Amino acid sequence: MPKIAKLGLACAAALSYSVIPTYLLKYRWIFRSRQRASREEKVLYLTFDDGPDTVYTNILLDFLEKEQIPAAFFMVAGSARKHPGIVERMRKSGYQVGIHSLSHESAMLSGPGRTGRDVKESKKIMEKMDIAVKWYRPPWGHLNLASLFWIRKLHLNLVFWDVMAQDWSAKETPDSICNKILRRVFPGAVICLHDGRGENGAPGRTIEALKKAIPLLKAQGYEFRRIEEKYGTAGESEID
Ligand SMILES: [Zn+2]
Repeated sequence: MPKIAKLGLACAAALSYSVIPTYLLKYRWIFRSRQRASREEKVLYLTFDDGPDTVYTNILLDFLEKEQIPAAFFMVAGSARKHPGIVERMRKSGYQVGIHSLSHESAMLSGPGRTGRDVKESKKIMEKMDIAVKWYRPPWGHLNLASLFWIRKLHLNLVFWDVMAQDWSAKETPDSICNKILRRVFPGAVICLHDGRGENGAPGRTIEALKKAIPLLKAQGYEFRRIEEKYGTAGESEID
């Protein structure tokens, strides 16, 4: 087979395996959220990815508990395993805990076997810490056919996001993150921030941004709710 044909086949396989499923589902999520926004109450759903972090996650929990704001944490299971005390604190305080892969690998670069092991092992790790795993957010929002299979097989609910504030970047400040959140929210929006990873102490800026944004959002009439109030405990599967 000529090289150009092989290259064409490889590109077609990559598109069908990962790129097309990722963008189809992501755009369907965005479309549905925008479509519902005019009918939604002024409610927001806070979610955090990439934790737990030994320093910042507890500081964030102190703040959220003081403000009585619910949130969902999509954890990197490999990190969660090393810090069971933080997971236990979330569970006891009633925060929702979902999975965000084993070690934050992109599904676009992962074969079917590796992807399946990643999802199953992540779930198993969290279940050993008494977390009933129902929620899954893939790193970078990347999916592939195998991750879709395992999400369905393990009865997980896929959660993307509506609002991102690039809070992982060292270029952002608490003010710029706060402003992005305020500009981008709409009724029913799922906000995605980060309590782990990021550049140069990024979660610290995220927490400062939230301290500014939350009173302003409340003053605009927004309230914060648990994500299962939006999608139900059985969840609204985005892959049906
Ligand atoms: Zn992530």
